[in-house]
Amino acid sequence: MSKPHPTTPGAAAQDHSAGLEDDHDHSHLDEMDLRVRALETLLVAKGYVDPAAVDRLIETYEVHVGPRNGARVVARAWSDPAFAEALRQDATAAIATLGYSGRQGEHMVAVFNTPQQHHMVVCTLCSCYPWPVLGLPPVWYKSAAYRSRAVREPRAVLAEFGLTLPADRQVRVWDSTAEVRYLVIPERPAGTEGWPEEQLAELVTRDSMIGTGLAKSPAAGVTA
Ligand code: FE
Repeated sequence: MSKPHPTTPGAAAQDHSAGLEDDHDHSHLDEMDLRVRALETLLVAKGYVDPAAVDRLIETYEVHVGPRNGARVVARAWSDPAFAEALRQDATAAIATLGYSGRQGEHMVAVFNTPQQHHMVVCTLCSCYPWPVLGLPPVWYKSAAYRSRAVREPRAVLAEFGLTLPADRQVRVWDSTAEVRYLVIPERPAGTEGWPEEQLAELVTRDSMIGTGLAKSPAAGVTA
C-alpha cells in the first residue's frame, strides 16, 4: 500500500477519505485487534507460544524502549550539527549510530521544525509509528478521530493538545506508511545554550516528536 507524502491537509483528506469520515471506527484496527487476540489464544492453547514471552516483548516496547530513545536522538541533533546533517541525509543510519534500530524503524525520516514550519505525524490508515525511537503509539494516535482530523484540520487538533501556533507558521502533515516512519525534531528551546545532551533530552517530550507538542521550556531559575 503506497501513499503520497508529504501530504497536504486538503489533498490527504481527499486521497484517504474513504472510511475515515465515520463517527465510529470500523477500520481494520479493531478487526486486527480481534484477529491478534484470537491468534494469540490459539497459539497459547496449542502450546506454540509462551504468554510470558509475548508479555516480555510488549513490555520491551512499552517500558524499555519508549520515547527516551527519541529524546536522545533529538538532544544529539541539537548539540551536534554534523549529527543533525546526518539525520537529514539518512535518518535510519544516523539513528542506528546511537544504537536504535529494528522493527518498525527500518526506514526513518527526520523532519525538522523551524520558526517557519511545524511538522506533525499521523498514520491515516492505521497506526504506523517509529517503535525503536518512540516505543508503542499512544491510544489517541490510533484513534479514528486523530487519523482523519490530523489531515483535515491539523490546527484544530493541535489546539486540543494545547498547542496554538502563530498564524503564519506553516503546518505540514506527514502520513506514515508501513515502510516510512517519521520523527519530528522539535525546535531547541531558548535558554538552553551550553546544556549537556542528557539535560537537553529531559526537555524532549513524546508529543514533541510526533508534532502534537513542543519541547519543554527550561524551568525558570534552573541553570545548567
Ligand atoms: Fe499504520
